[in-house]
Amino acid sequence: MPDSWASLADSASADVRGAISSSIRRAGNKLPWAPTPGAWTAYESSIAEELETKMLEAAESAASRAAWRLKSECEISSSVRKRIGRLAEKQAELIADNTRTAVSETKRKLKKLGLEDRQTRRVVRSVAGLNRQQAASVANTLKAKLGEGKLFGSALRTAEARGRKYARTRATRIAIAQSTSAAYMGIDVAMVCAEKAGAIQDPKRKWVKTASACSVCQRLHGKTVDAGKNFRHPDTGGALRGGDAHMSCNCGVEYVYEQAKREKAVA
Ligand SMILES: [Zn+2]
Repeated sequence: MPDSWASLADSASADVRGAISSSIRRAGNKLPWAPTPGAWTAYESSIAEELETKMLEAAESAASRAAWRLKSECEISSSVRKRIGRLAEKQAELIADNTRTAVSETKRKLKKLGLEDRQTRRVVRSVAGLNRQQAASVANTLKAKLGEGKLFGSALRTAEARGRKYARTRATRIAIAQSTSAAYMGIDVAMVCAEKAGAIQDPKRKWVKTASACSVCQRLHGKTVDAGKNFRHPDTGGALRGGDAHMSCNCGVEYVYEQAKREKAVA
């Protein structure tokens, strides 16, 4: 049996994950201490730009590998490019919104502890890219360490290290989800091209859960849609491309189709 389509998507996405995750963290490190609206815009657009570039790379690489496997040819159309651009923008907006909330809530929490903003700027910066719960855990770490009677500098370092660790993990998860999703878009393009060229018939995509799948993914397992179409999230109805039902979703998509009965005549 040849390698699965899910593993093709995985390897096309693996090539760009590191770049996506480090660009998200880089953008966070560049955030000024008290970001102006302009600085937030710059933060968001730098993430969107890098995400779009890398997602496109994953899609193109998956499309050409899939086309090769299907003995067909294809190119990513401008409408798929636009879709990837919109996905990247949406994701960057989400990251920026989370970060804005994380930064302001962390500042407020630390102020309640009687700390000056400037004393805690490194801790506050370390929450860039985190969600509220993670940011709260960073602030609570600082509070707990001070409560244990730790020296201020050492408590700060512990909290900052926790923030950076969360940021790394979260950026990696986002990178995996977005690049995998883009890779599936690439395979989809190749499937549709191969069908049009008569190399295969009736390509469909099938959601395949992993052993540790959550209840959402359990319900998605085995669902089938036409190639080029999205799955629907069972609760929200949102579009899913595969491996993107939730943060850290490891589900895959497999493709089923018939080989063309007759070779197309070559002119
Ligand atoms: Zn899943």
